[in-house]
Amino acid sequence: MEPYRIKVVEPIPFTTRQQRQEALKRVNYNLFDLRAEEVTIDLLTDSGTGALSAAQQAAGMAGDESYSGSRSFYRFHETVTELTGYAHILPAHQGRAAERILFSSLLEPGQISLANTHFDTTRANVELAGCEARDLPSPESRDLDSTQPFKGNIDLEVLRATLTGPDASRVAVVVMTLTNNGGGGQPVSMENLKQTAALCRQYGVPLFLDAARFAENAWLVTRHEDAYRDHTPRQVAEEAFRLADGCMMSAKKDGIVHIGGFVGVNDPELAQKCELLLIATEGFATYGGLAGRDLDMMAQGLNEVLEPSYLQERADIAGYLAKRVRAAGVDIIEPPGMHALYLNAGRLLPHIPPHNYPGHALSCQLYLEGGIRSAELGSLYLGKEDEDGNPVASAPYELVRLALPRRVYTRSHYDHIGDTLEKIAKDTHSVYGFRIVDQSPILRHFRAKLEPVPVAR
Ligand SMILES: *Cc1c(COP(=O)(O)O)cnc(C)c1O
Repeated sequence: MEPYRIKVVEPIPFTTRQQRQEALKRVNYNLFDLRAEEVTIDLLTDSGTGALSAAQQAAGMAGDESYSGSRSFYRFHETVTELTGYAHILPAHQGRAAERILFSSLLEPGQISLANTHFDTTRANVELAGCEARDLPSPESRDLDSTQPFKGNIDLEVLRATLTGPDASRVAVVVMTLTNNGGGGQPVSMENLKQTAALCRQYGVPLFLDAARFAENAWLVTRHEDAYRDHTPRQVAEEAFRLADGCMMSAKKDGIVHIGGFVGVNDPELAQKCELLLIATEGFATYGGLAGRDLDMMAQGLNEVLEPSYLQERADIAGYLAKRVRAAGVDIIEPPGMHALYLNAGRLLPHIPPHNYPGHALSCQLYLEGGIRSAELGSLYLGKEDEDGNPVASAPYELVRLALPRRVYTRSHYDHIGDTLEKIAKDTHSVYGFRIVDQSPILRHFRAKLEPVPVAR
């Protein structure tokens, strides 16, 4: 059961099918343009959408809003230092700010960042620094149906080959994303992290963690890695941070706050560079673009997130939804992970070709039938067409992500998601494809306008 009871509630909106049909038309079938008030269950993201605890709210009320040296900063600093062990901790307003501060200070144009998989803002910040972001996912990650527990691992052989190959002198950093968000939310094993750290040390390349979901990764390690079965999630997390030279973190995930993040580094010279950039662009080094109350709530959240009862329930509810989804006849990226389920829309809707966006079609259908908002991760997001709409490139998989906000929805909400998918899966032939009628040159999935097209079957 949920290891909490509910003290503050927010009504969720109910709409009719007719209203949702009209809303879809009005926003040109782009779910980003819906008003949140038109969404009954919002699974667009697990970022900044969690519920605060009473203790977090109380900590926020006691926040110290001094410009520098606030009590809130020292509480935050102590918590993060204890957790990570890094010598220098800098707050930032969210993950991508931490990424920009770190990469602008660490990288020189022309260098390479290697990762198990760069998250999209991580990639963008590496590229903005004039560098190449190269993904080295493990071979198992390519098989969506494989239930191997650590599909988030980096490919150690390719890593070694890169660190000893012709590009070796240009490799400036290795990033491990815990859990691997771009790769289906799959965890990284401690064994893989240790071997990566050893290779990095051997070849003199710094290792950084993208720690957005460090606690969920730690939980999955205690469940599936034999050497860690008797460890607490905190012990695993503390060990993981200490294998790396630093980290950047979006606390909107495993900090369970609405805004917040930080950079941690050991190297004093790098820390100084980051600090100056932070002061120039985010805020003074003891608040980093946040309010004192945000720092207090983040400190409290970073402790709560490692509670075994919290992590156990989060894994259980993801597993519960996965079971409902499979029973409805819809395949997911296996195993289910913790922060999201990734539906295999390509397999569910084989009559819709990639350039008619089966993922987007399923996403729209989830909204139409159930008022559920999700995110397409398929050819609308990753594909390309020529000016006449003929496909040039399509995504490797047509997926829909159901992100699970922390401590927000209960089992009956999850049942509604299962029921809705069951209904859709029984009548896939009524699901239409889409065509883009207007798009932006970059990040098109955010702004594209679409219209439904009947597809041949
Ligand atoms: C969300 C996320 C980020 C970016 O953080 P924001 O707080 O959204 O800026 C970076 N890396 C990963 C793995 C993330 O999930």
